[in-house]
Amino acid sequence: MRPRIAVIGSGPAGLAFARVLHRHGHPVTVLERDPARDARPAGGTLDLHEGLGQLALEKAGVLAEFHALSRPEGQAMRILDTDGTVLRDWRPRPGDRANPEIDRGQLRDLLLGPLEVQWGRVVTEVVPEGPDGVLVHCADGRQETFDLVIGADGAWSRVRPAVSSATPQYTGVTLVETSLDDVDTRHPALARLVGDGSLAVYGVNRAIVAQRNSGGHVKVYAQFRVPLDSHTTPDRHTAPDQPADLGPADVEAVRSSLLAQFDGWAAPVLDLLRHGTTFVHRPLYVLPVSHTWPHVSGVTLLGDAAHLMPPLGAGANLAMLEGAELAESIAAAPGPADLDEAVRAFEEQMWARAGRWAKITTAGLERLVSPDPSQAVALFDEVQPS
Ligand SMILES: Cc1cc2nc3c(=O)[nH]c(=O)nc-3n(C[C@H](O)[C@H](O)[C@H](O)COP(=O)(O)OP(=O)(O)OC[C@H]3O[C@@H](n4cnc5c(N)ncnc54)[C@H](O)[C@@H]3O)c2cc1C
Repeated sequence: MRPRIAVIGSGPAGLAFARVLHRHGHPVTVLERDPARDARPAGGTLDLHEGLGQLALEKAGVLAEFHALSRPEGQAMRILDTDGTVLRDWRPRPGDRANPEIDRGQLRDLLLGPLEVQWGRVVTEVVPEGPDGVLVHCADGRQETFDLVIGADGAWSRVRPAVSSATPQYTGVTLVETSLDDVDTRHPALARLVGDGSLAVYGVNRAIVAQRNSGGHVKVYAQFRVPLDSHTTPDRHTAPDQPADLGPADVEAVRSSLLAQFDGWAAPVLDLLRHGTTFVHRPLYVLPVSHTWPHVSGVTLLGDAAHLMPPLGAGANLAMLEGAELAESIAAAPGPADLDEAVRAFEEQMWARAGRWAKITTAGLERLVSPDPSQAVALFDEVQPS
C-alpha cells in the first residue's frame, strides 16, 4: 500500500513538493490555511536562480512555462546615494537568465496546475504516534492520520514543534512594505527611477528598496534597525505572518513616521513612500543558523519552517528545491519501509545547504542595513557578475 502523505502549506515549498510528487503519480494531501487561492495578496516578486528555484521548476516539468512568464529584465539593479546620485546601474546582458523575476501569484498558479489543495484547513497541531502514523489536528475540529507529514507552513510553523523547540528570533531589522500601482501612467518619473528591476538606496542603518513587479506594480520596502517593541504601526499585536489591514488614518500616520525617519533623503526617493497606498509591517525574524533536529519518524520540515533566514533572495529558491528533491526521493523509495531512510537522507542534505545560505544571508543583512552604507555597495560588487 502506498504511504499516506500530507504537506501542510501551499507556499513555494509545499507546492513544489506536491507538484513533483504528483508528476511521479503519487497521491498527496495539501492542507492550506488560506480560505481560497486568492484570499490574500500573493506578495512581491521573487528571483529564481538557475540551479535552485529553476531546477525545482524543471523537476516539476514547468520550466518552459516559467521562462515564458518570468522577467529576465527584472534582474536590473540600480543603487543610489541618499542624495540621489547613481552609484551603480547594472543591467543584465541579452539572454541572461541566471535570476529572472516572477510575481509570487504567477509562480503559485504555475505550480498549482492540476493540484487539488484543501483550502481553509488550518493545522493546529501535529502528533507523531509511532507505528500508528502521525495525527494532524485542524482548527475545524477534524483530524486525520498520515504516514508522513511535511511541514511547509512557513516561519510560524505549527508542524515544527513536533520535531524542534526552536522559535524565530527578531533580527533587529524591520521592513515596512508599501506599493504603487500602474506606475508607468500614474507615476512615470518613479517608473523611470525604478527601471525594469530593483532600485536600492542605502543610508546609515536604513535603506529603501523598490522592485518592479509585472503589470506596472512596484513594491517598496523601507528597512531600518529598530527594537521590536518601539515600532508604532498599529498591527504590531497581530500574528507576525498575518498583518492586519490599516485604516486610512493609520496609513497616514505610518507614512508620516516613515518620512520622518528618512528625512533629508532625495525627494524622488521619498516620493516612493509619499505615493505608496497601504503599509505592511514586516519585522524580520530568523531561525538559528544551522537549525537541525533529531530525526522524528513520520514528520519533517521544508523551507521557512525549517530554516527561516533574512530575505536576501534565497528562501523561496531553497524551499522549492527542497520540496522537489524530497518528492523525488520519496517517489524513488522502493517501499514504505524505505520512506523513513529517504527522509533522513534528505534532511542531512537540506541542513548542510540551508546552513550555508543562512550564514551568507545573515552576514548580508548586517551589511545591507548597516552603520556604514558603503558596505551595501561593496556587497553588491562582490556578488554581481561584471
Ligand atoms: C520581503 C521579502 C522578499 C523576499 N524575496 C525573496 C526572493 O526574491 N527570493 C527568494 O528566494 N526568497 C525571497 N523571500 C523569502 C521567501 O518569501 C520565503 O523564503 C518563501 O516564501 C518560503 O516558502 P515556504 O513555502 O517555506 O513558506 P511560505 O511562503 O511562508 O508558505 C507557507 C504556507 O503555509 C500556509 N500555512 C501557514 N500556517 C499554516 C497552518 N497552520 N495550516 C495550514 N497552512 C498554513 C501559509 O498560508 C502559506 O501558504 C522574500 C521574503 C520577504 C519577506
